[in-house]
Amino acid sequence: MCLACRAKENPETVDFTITQLQCCPEVTEIPREFTLLTQLCCGRCPLLTSIPREFTQLTILWCYNCPLLTEIPREFIQLIRLYCYDCPLLTSIPREFTLLTQLCCSYCPLLTSIPREFIQLTQLVCYTCPFISITKEFTQLTHLSCSDCPLLTSIPREFIQLIRLDCYKCPLLTLIPREFTRLTELICFDCPKLTEIPKEFTQLNRLNCSDCPLITSIPKQNRYQYLKKEEFVPFLSFSDKVKYTFMYVKKQYLQEEIRYKLETQHNESYYAPDGLGAQALFDKYRDGIK
Ligand SMILES: [Zn+2]
Repeated sequence: MCLACRAKENPETVDFTITQLQCCPEVTEIPREFTLLTQLCCGRCPLLTSIPREFTQLTILWCYNCPLLTEIPREFIQLIRLYCYDCPLLTSIPREFTLLTQLCCSYCPLLTSIPREFIQLTQLVCYTCPFISITKEFTQLTHLSCSDCPLLTSIPREFIQLIRLDCYKCPLLTLIPREFTRLTELICFDCPKLTEIPKEFTQLNRLNCSDCPLITSIPKQNRYQYLKKEEFVPFLSFSDKVKYTFMYVKKQYLQEEIRYKLETQHNESYYAPDGLGAQALFDKYRDGIK
């Protein structure tokens, strides 16, 4: 039982001035008295339908596996990091969240856009949000991951700050702009229309262009480690490799994805308020993921 549940049963035993809260799968509502929360994790909360608008101090919010959650209140204007995973009823992210630097949208099929106002974004992950579009305003991005984006035809040339770029299963993507000369890590996985890795990418130290049949050569002058598909996740079966490749290569900043997979695999619950513990957990359990 989490503090949110306990607050319903025995409110006198609960400290409502806490700043971090993780909800358990039994939670039905989060008492609005927790107004000082700065970090909230709602993970696998099948009964949760809403998050109180009063939580205006939130800077970090995780929502994953919340099948009934329809909205992130637009009052959360302090949010710096927002992670939405498996929220099938979530239709939008409020454009008021202009302080966001990290945004992850995964398996939110009703999300169709990321507000242009999010010009502070440095990390953006769009993972299996089939109708989402990315606009050129996010010029501060250093990390961008697009996975299973069937409508993505190009990546804006304006993203010249990019250091890491993942394009995973983007069937219409034809080009990666030559302007991305700061890239040190480039993953193009299963992008059948992609024709070239620009030779201007001299900073690459990790490259994967597996299952991109039109790429017939890669720049030779680079001193990168060329990663074959088989080398990505040696501890997994092939089908799982495809599934986990994305997770693995992004482990440094996709801790929640990892945590979610770990919980799914091991039926255990973890909470790392800032996500930092997930790396250790990943290392601990990765040999067990089959
Ligand atoms: Zn609970």
